[in-house]
This record gives sequence, C-alpha cells and structure tokens, in this order.
Amino acid sequence: MTFETRPCARCDGSGQYSWNSTDGSRCYGCSGRGRVLTADGLAAKEAWNAVARPPVNVDDVVVGDRLRWKDLANKWCVQPVVSIVPDVCIVDASHTRIVVKFESGCSWSVPPGTMMQRAASDESAAAADLAVADMIGVVAS
Ligand SMILES: [Zn+2]
Repeated sequence: MTFETRPCARCDGSGQYSWNSTDGSRCYGCSGRGRVLTADGLAAKEAWNAVARPPVNVDDVVVGDRLRWKDLANKWCVQPVVSIVPDVCIVDASHTRIVVKFESGCSWSVPPGTMMQRAASDESAAAADLAVADMIGVVAS
C-alpha cells in the first residue's frame, strides 16, 4: 500500500539539511527521504496501521506474539516475544513492571497497561488493504 506524499518543506525535497556529527546532513523533517506524507496520506496510513498493526495492551501479550517498535536508532523492529514476566514490587504495587523479552535478546520493562503495537501479518495486511482501498490519500495498492 502506498500513501500520498509531498516534497519535504524543510529540505525542499533533497533529504539533506544542516550537518551534525551524529546524523551528517540527514534532514529531520523527512528522515532523509525527501518526502513526507500529506494530511490525507497520513490519515490513510494511520487507518491502515489500525487494522494491520492493531494496538495491544501489554497485559494481553503472550509468548509468540510479534510486536513492532522503534529501536534506539529510530529503526522499526519486529520481534517475537519469548517471555513475559511480571516484576512485582512488594513494597509498592504501583512500581510493578511487566518485562517483555524478545528473540533478539533485548527486553522492555513497562508498566502494566502499556499499549504496544502488533506486527502486521499477511492476513491483517490484506484486511487493512481492503479497509483503506477507497480512502483519499491512497495512491497505489
Ligand atoms: Zn526533509
């Protein structure tokens, strides 16, 4: 599914902006892509994500679920969950965390009730394609 974009106004579509030692001259307005979603494109993409990658409460995550998140380098990751263990604080229950461990070895420690995002499956992506096919902001399926 492709969503409507326009040239980035910050870098005038070049993907390059002021230089720094961390990211070189990569534009922060478009992450160096040179284009950004239009308002219609963003609305259609969010509608697609809501169906293809539905939010899930950490309390409902089970081993084997595939979750999607941005890593420290701001890149999207998809990993299966290999364990999910409550870390109960006996002094103050409000400090209880849920520790979600992934196949890659990394883990998250989050408060109960934290919303996460499921990764798309073939089935959920197909359902999302159907759901947004007629929306303004979709330029190609
Ligand atoms: Zn830009």
